[in-house]
Amino acid sequence: MRFIRHQHLVQLTHLPYVFPVNCYLVEEQDSLTLVDAGWPINAKDIVKAARRIGKPITRILLTHTHVDHVGAVDHLKWLLPEVQLYLSEREAKLLAGDKSLVEGEANVPIRGGLAKPGPMKAKPDILLKEGDIIGSLVSIAAPGHTPGQMAFMDTRNRSLIVGDAFQTRGGLAIAGQMRLLFPFPALSTWDKRTSIETARKLLELKPSLIAPGHGNLALEPQHLMEAAIKRADKELSPFNGQS
Ligand SMILES: [Zn+2]
Repeated sequence: MRFIRHQHLVQLTHLPYVFPVNCYLVEEQDSLTLVDAGWPINAKDIVKAARRIGKPITRILLTHTHVDHVGAVDHLKWLLPEVQLYLSEREAKLLAGDKSLVEGEANVPIRGGLAKPGPMKAKPDILLKEGDIIGSLVSIAAPGHTPGQMAFMDTRNRSLIVGDAFQTRGGLAIAGQMRLLFPFPALSTWDKRTSIETARKLLELKPSLIAPGHGNLALEPQHLMEAAIKRADKELSPFNGQS
């Protein structure tokens, strides 16, 4: 996996030029937090990257339960049995195989390849809620791509790991905004309207950096985020295409 460091954050990328899938190591005083877990074959590379940094992985945080974000979890739990797995309560319901919607959620089907109880055996040790503090990270509910997606902001430098709330591959886009060069996050997005609300919420946090599930890190991303929100509003407008 490609290894790119920015301050406390290391981005690990599987197939960066063909079909980029990212996961992240966040460096703490004496440990590492892994955010997302790529594909099943990525476990050894993730452990190798931790060795290169010289600290143990003690936690795995999942932004959401699509297969390209949880793939290596079981293998990692086997290699590193002490590791604690964190997941939002809402995503834990999906992981348990229950795709029913919860009251108040947009009435559209949940999409994308979800990790089922079969292929992924690990269960979360800790259920996350908005505002939970995990080392230097704070959890932020970021629904839209899936109903229970979480983003994680590093309180030391405001860098923001967004899962698939945004992608940067093919140009910065909100979940649900189609990028022909990399259409997969859009194709597996649950509700675009909720995604746009989340994008606004994440912009208000004034992130110094966006670390997406797919694509390169975006430094000082606020102008790009604003432009993507404007474009998404236009795409959803009932007058779109009529003038
Ligand atoms: Zn996804």
